[in-house]
Amino acid sequence: MLALGIEGTAHTVGVGIVDGSCRVLANVYGMIKPEKGGIHPREAANHHAEAVVPLLQKALDVAGIGPDAVDIIAFSQGPGLGPCLRTVATAARALALTLRVPIVGVNHCVAHLEIGRGTTECEDPALLYVSGGNTQVIAFSRGRYRVFGETLDIGIGNMLDKFAREAGHGFPGGPVLERAAKESSTLLPLPYSVKGMDVAFSGLLTAAVNRMKKGERFEDLAFSIQETAFAMLCEVTERAMAHLENDEVLLGGGVARNRRLQEMVSRMATDRGARMFVPPGELCIDNGAMIAWTGLLMHRAGVRMSIEDTVVNQRFRTDEVDVVWR
Ligand code: AMP
Ligand code: MG
Repeated sequence: MLALGIEGTAHTVGVGIVDGSCRVLANVYGMIKPEKGGIHPREAANHHAEAVVPLLQKALDVAGIGPDAVDIIAFSQGPGLGPCLRTVATAARALALTLRVPIVGVNHCVAHLEIGRGTTECEDPALLYVSGGNTQVIAFSRGRYRVFGETLDIGIGNMLDKFAREAGHGFPGGPVLERAAKESSTLLPLPYSVKGMDVAFSGLLTAAVNRMKKGERFEDLAFSIQETAFAMLCEVTERAMAHLENDEVLLGGGVARNRRLQEMVSRMATDRGARMFVPPGELCIDNGAMIAWTGLLMHRAGVRMSIEDTVVNQRFRTDEVDVVWR
């Protein structure tokens, strides 16, 4: 069975094709990079509308198949930016109706977790999902993926991007900060804000920007932001793992590519006799393959959707999904 998945919750539009054993036959994407400022939902949606058809063709070419070989179409149903979600949902509906194959809407956050289970050796991990807009600790419990902790304000990637932007760097800012942080070992005090199982980043961002305006070195701030924010993430992830008696931790989302974060989470895991898993970078960021794979799992477990069921949901919660495939 082959599934084709279309991702398009935010800045990235991606098309992936996977088979029934989670072999990724194609995984291609395009990303809108705003010249300045943040991502404008309408502009991102226009970008996706222009990019999606060429990407579909490219994915089929890479996989070496024709459209008739596709058995189901999956798409990212939420959470995300409304205009972007509606654009990819429209593309998915048109494709499914044309090819006369089933369509299935997928929760983006759940897909980050499932692609990790599909492509690494982990079986029942706690997922630390760290992306631009999302920051959550997710684990399976009593039939659902439940959110054990999350950001109370902005996503960690957003925080890194905003700080880099204030310092005059382009999007994405995460990799810029990672490189700069390697040039420093000066830990400046920044707000460490963990509230129970949750984290908050806006205070840290404001404090770091203020320190920069007072002339503090960019490298020292990059280092300090990473050490502080990643330590917060490690703390809540560890608490969730202790609570669930979980001995696997999986990373997902674009920020999971950060080597320092990987190092810190891995250290935390090893210290408690657990293991860390990180999917290949192309499957950490927003991608169509994870949508295809999760759609395939859902379809195989009997999930069926009519076109009416494919309405997008900007605030689609992780724990709204009935995980019938596990
Ligand atoms: P996503 O929303 O999952 O596609 O991930 C995009 C986010 O990942 C952006 O906020 C990037 O700044 C961030 N990101 C990408 N690579 C890195 C990295 N090496 N370190 C930190 N953040 C990163
Ligand atoms: Mg994501």
